[in-house]
Amino acid sequence: MTKCHECEKEFDVEAARAEYTSEFSGELDYDEYGQGNCADCAISEAESNMNVGRAIDMMNGDEDYDDDFVQKHL
Ligand SMILES: [Zn+2]
Repeated sequence: MTKCHECEKEFDVEAARAEYTSEFSGELDYDEYGQGNCADCAISEAESNMNVGRAIDMMNGDEDYDDDFVQKHL
């Protein structure tokens, strides 16, 4: 068992990796982005990073601009 860096919960790395991989259909690599965090923290961190990325794309005009979304995530 490993202790999560974020919430200090004990978790199983294998299980966290499996959950992370299935959540993102294998598009994100737990060992690259989520390591050290339990599945819940790793997934919520990845989602918030993706939302920030989308908000930046909206600011740059690469995606349809959604003011609520930008306000919420930037
Ligand atoms: Zn955690």
